[in-house]
Amino acid sequence: MATAVVAGAQGAAQADPPETTPGGPWGDGSSLSGVASYEEMWAILQKLEDRGAIELEAAPLQSNLGRDIPVVTIGDGPIPVMLIANQHGNEFMVSRGMMDLIRQVAGNDSPDNQAIRDALTVTIVPRVNVDGFDGGVTDEQGRTTPWRQNYDPTCEVGCDFWLEGRGYDINRYHSFSDSAYDNPYVEGDDALNEVPESISMRLLWDELQPVVMVDYHHQGTYVDEDGRMITGSIMWPNAVDTAAELGISEEFAETITASQRAASVMLQAVDSYGYANITRYPSTETPGIARNAYGLLGSASVLFELRGGIGQKSAGYIAKTASVTGYELLRSVADGSWETADLSVIENIRERGDYVGDPRGE
Ligand SMILES: [Zn+2]
Repeated sequence: MATAVVAGAQGAAQADPPETTPGGPWGDGSSLSGVASYEEMWAILQKLEDRGAIELEAAPLQSNLGRDIPVVTIGDGPIPVMLIANQHGNEFMVSRGMMDLIRQVAGNDSPDNQAIRDALTVTIVPRVNVDGFDGGVTDEQGRTTPWRQNYDPTCEVGCDFWLEGRGYDINRYHSFSDSAYDNPYVEGDDALNEVPESISMRLLWDELQPVVMVDYHHQGTYVDEDGRMITGSIMWPNAVDTAAELGISEEFAETITASQRAASVMLQAVDSYGYANITRYPSTETPGIARNAYGLLGSASVLFELRGGIGQKSAGYIAKTASVTGYELLRSVADGSWETADLSVIENIRERGDYVGDPRGE
């Protein structure tokens, strides 16, 4: 079979969402509070670069609307770390979290910041899906951004099939083979990948070879057994069948453990904040998902899903959780402590509970 259509796992919507604590009010998920537009993001980052605080460049490929994806580099240490966010255009609060993280690490000369900048080369892509966030385009049904996919109305195979004239899910098209341009759904080596944002992230990966790679998303709203709202979910690579086919099962097992140690650091970082309630993300083994693709390539790789679709007040928590977990991870990679992070935190993590919001994740 030449190609396969990649369908998002669409569960049936639940009629009666369970009561949650806190119980609302619910926002419609479209609040852009505190989130920079495309132009604002470039302007803010440009100012930081003018001050010498960061290096700013465009990702290797532009989006389909001809827009540049901003890539920020902080520090010049020997250990490369890469964080990306907002691959899904409607999951934008994590982009604010990454902007906060950039300001923090590039900000003052605190001992922690200096240690990070000396030990690491930190690459942050705060918004991968610039078009899906505010491309100013409409799909064939007249819907406007922000939406999940990129913008590619020519997409016929492999795009989210229930949406006409929209585009691809960027987080299904990361190549895990030798070439960044490989289409993960076409057998063998090829150059048929049609998702520039995914290719672009892989080209950056090739350039940087990050030791640790983190991908931030939003998930719908879920509750745990006690009815407490789940504020996030975390997961490491699990494409074990693909690893076996590639003959790299042993290396992949080590990568999983390293990824779990990175995840442990991030979990412990938010544990000290009373509001966090993090569970394991119930993920698939799809190899073209960033979490799996970059794990198969050898990076310790973590998916962090923060609760989305909420009102303005909680939006700040999402951004904060993203920046806090990112900062603690950078600190622990800089001082090496992540390599001995407690795995019991991962072994004891709970499964995600019942769904009360948008079912599509990762
Ligand atoms: Zn997502």
